[in-house]
Order: sequence, then C-alpha cells, then structure tokens
Amino acid sequence: MCQAETENDEITKNCTEGQPIKCEKCPESKQPAWIKPDITFFGEEMPTRFEEMMREDCPQADLCLIIGTSLMVLDFCLLPNFVPKEFRLTFYMLDP
Ligand SMILES: [Zn+2]
Repeated sequence: MCQAETENDEITKNCTEGQPIKCEKCPESKQPAWIKPDITFFGEEMPTRFEEMMREDCPQADLCLIIGTSLMVLDFCLLPNFVPKEFRLTFYMLDP
C-alpha cells in the first residue's frame, strides 16, 4: 500500500458508479493499484501497531471502551485480557 489519499468527491463518484479508484501515484510497474479505505477489512491482518498498542495501552487504561465488535474476531476478542485484572467488565450486546 502506498498510503495515497484521494478527495471525498472522487470516492463518492466512484462508489456511486461501483468503480474502484485507481491510484495515480503508484508507478506503472505496480499498476493496476487501487486506493482502499484506511480500514482493516474482514480477513485482513491487523496492523502490527494494533498489537503493540494493545499491550502497551490497555494495562495503563482507566477506562476501556470496546465498541462495535462481537468480540468473536481476533484481535479484538483479546482486548479484555489486557486490561487490569481489577477492571469490571460489562458487555452490552444489542443482538441476542
Ligand atoms: Zn499508490
């Protein structure tokens, strides 16, 4: 990934048309190269920084909110294991 960015208008236009956005900054030798959102898709590995920060930040946290996950997917399901043992864990599940 080259980390190229593009304008929101181009994203909106291409999404509306159902077309991926070609990266104009990548060299010809790497074409076709596509711009993708700066997110981790299902099935992709989390960035190594995620684990580094999980191990460093969670033990020091006063409050840890884990939002938007079923805690069924690695690496998010590991997060509660890294908060201090005296933390009270409360889970809110909107789906039964
Ligand atoms: Zn690129």
